[in-house]
Amino acid sequence: MTLRDTIAAIATPMGVGGLGIIRVSGPKSEEIARKLFKPRKRVDNFMTHHLYHGEIISPETGATLDEVLLTLMRKPHSYTGEDTLEINCHGGPLILQVVLTEVIKAGARLAEPGEFTRRAFLNNRLDLSQAEAVVDIIMAKTDRSLELAVSHLKGELTSKIEALRTSIIDVLAILEASIDFSEEGVDVEQNSEIIRRIQAIVDDLHAMLATYEQGKIYRHGLGAVITGKPNVGKSSLLNRLLGEKRAIVTPIPGTTRDFIEEFTNIKGIPVRLTDTAGIRHPENIIEQEGIAFVREKLSSADLVFIVLDGSEELTEEDVEIIEENRMRKAILVINKTDLPHVINIQKVHQLVPDLHPLWISAKYGDGIPSLKEAIYALVMKQSKEDHPSTMMITNIRHKMVLERAVALLSQAKDSIVGGLSPEFPALDVREALDSLGEIVGKTINEDILDRIFSTFCIGK
Ligand code: GDP
Repeated sequence: MTLRDTIAAIATPMGVGGLGIIRVSGPKSEEIARKLFKPRKRVDNFMTHHLYHGEIISPETGATLDEVLLTLMRKPHSYTGEDTLEINCHGGPLILQVVLTEVIKAGARLAEPGEFTRRAFLNNRLDLSQAEAVVDIIMAKTDRSLELAVSHLKGELTSKIEALRTSIIDVLAILEASIDFSEEGVDVEQNSEIIRRIQAIVDDLHAMLATYEQGKIYRHGLGAVITGKPNVGKSSLLNRLLGEKRAIVTPIPGTTRDFIEEFTNIKGIPVRLTDTAGIRHPENIIEQEGIAFVREKLSSADLVFIVLDGSEELTEEDVEIIEENRMRKAILVINKTDLPHVINIQKVHQLVPDLHPLWISAKYGDGIPSLKEAIYALVMKQSKEDHPSTMMITNIRHKMVLERAVALLSQAKDSIVGGLSPEFPALDVREALDSLGEIVGKTINEDILDRIFSTFCIGK
């Protein structure tokens, strides 16, 4: 990949819409505009960040392809830091494709996924954690997830990392200065000062790491599976939590044959709900496969809702399902509380003394707010404490880097305590410094960049 070429892509989603945008970045941006764009009023020099009205013309036939608005953003004041062109076309897949083809013929090449943002990173318009935040903003599923991603894009994580790196550089300076004097014996006072400083940095890193359990849930969502025998009201519960009729609700047992997965927002937590066909004794191969899939879903779930029908006696099948899921992180839901209570609640309690049952009516909505509270409380308990601030670690790559820095700094501290010559701890501290640099992209290799940017869409 060379930064000297010019890239182009359709930046808006495929499909029909009011507008569709073609984005071009690189040195040929202006040349492409001159070749294809016929402005309404004569333009001698394109002004930067100015909107021009006109037409895209095929240079071969002279035919008008679309009526557009065009903007040229000259470097370095553009998203990528290069000359950039944005063409606002009409939003139809064919017209966008036709205009893009002309842009390519005029000297651009098709952009790879994330290439615009990668150029922004390479031209120092964004650091790596901010580039990652761009994807998180696009993918955010709740207001809280979005808030966290925006804070990363604004550079809150970057500032925190930079502050920690400065503290590490200070420690390194003292250590490296003492290397020259190490023959003269140990300066006990200085050593304890270094140890104190390293410990303070490690404490800060631990505090950041402690936010990950919650942060990852806000970024990726929580996988929740609704299980229970047929007809207890699983689909009704799913619909209730989604706030819409997504699953088909019928009184015939076993209607939900496929698996419905949808995200819903529960107090800011993106919850991916899966409704299952219920564990039944398989009668055919499709059911067998279905059941294998349910088991797989259940074993990877962050949370399981065990649903029982409160208007009926507990059955063998209910007991089997309870037994199977009791060791998982589960919420016990007793549905159909609007009907007379028939279920033997003592028996349920004996089976799962630790699970406090929540009575709901999926059909009429009773008990749903308490159920949402219970989900939220369980997630928060799981991550020990609530982190109201936006400074949260949400990305596993960042978590691994922070853990490596903690290990290296702890090792450095042990070396000093053990009386090793300062060269040894200095090496570890320097490595910890480089390692933190990976979060913002100061020290990074091409493979990691490839991996990060391949998760982007084309045109971003
Ligand atoms: P699933 O097989 O577990 O997904 O169950 P469904 O959601 O399809 O519901 C089965 C039947 O129970 C349907 O006729 C629903 O209308 C009914 N049902 C579900 N929840 C309730 C409830 O809270 N109260 C009452 N009275 N009926 C319910």
